[in-house]
Amino acid sequence: MNIKTLKEDDTSIQLLIRGTNAAFMNTLRRIILTEVPTMAIDEVVVIENSSVLRDEFLAHRIGLMPLKTDLETYNLPEDCKCGSEFGCNLCRVSLVLEATSGDRTITVYSGDFVSDNPAVAPVSTRIPITKLAPEQKVRLEAYARLGKGKDHARWQPVSVCTYRHLPIIKINKKSCDLCEKCVKVCPRKVLKKSGDEISINHIEECSLCGDCVDACEKTPKTIEATWDDESFTFNLESTESLTPRRILQEAITILNGKLNTLLEQLQEVRE
Ligand SMILES: [Zn+2]
Repeated sequence: MNIKTLKEDDTSIQLLIRGTNAAFMNTLRRIILTEVPTMAIDEVVVIENSSVLRDEFLAHRIGLMPLKTDLETYNLPEDCKCGSEFGCNLCRVSLVLEATSGDRTITVYSGDFVSDNPAVAPVSTRIPITKLAPEQKVRLEAYARLGKGKDHARWQPVSVCTYRHLPIIKINKKSCDLCEKCVKVCPRKVLKKSGDEISINHIEECSLCGDCVDACEKTPKTIEATWDDESFTFNLESTESLTPRRILQEAITILNGKLNTLLEQLQEVRE
């Protein structure tokens, strides 16, 4: 297997992975979606709420607020030694929200939460939670814990996690008359004319829409668009709970753990 990083920043990563198959790519995608733990608010105790949003509605919005995750310090509640249903300071973080509008209308933002541990706080301070009209109030305490995407989408570490076969575009140079119709029709500018031939600009941008093939007026077609069965582009966009690279590392560690368990159990069966 050969991996090349095409793009990477604080919130997303794009990889080109060669020499594998769709089954492996889908395994990786599904582990990221369902098994990589992140912090999210799981329980809300509403002390006072005179806003137009009902308590349940408010709790739902707060639950979907992505939180910065510290995997080194915190345990999954089911793995924590405390064994308590209320949690301890190694498996739970509490966040408090107190907002009063006074005599004007205000918007309550994620940044108004005060966390026990500043390392576990909303990833953005500008997520609107609710609006308060004059003389309205919200007071609540929220409890965050580590969880997995298979239990609820609020623990999913990514907003986008997809893979695609790498396209292959073949151009028959002998029959091509350089009409450039395929170059002009391509919405992603994958093709270009360089000198006396049509060449590929950036193949990973191709969505295999087939417009270039349809635009070619030659019979048989001069241009052919297919895909490589063993090469993929992999796109991941994090919710900022964890960095894209950390999400991939965690997913691979989890996959490794699952394979090791399988191996150990197979050996036990043999013995
Ligand atoms: Zn605990």
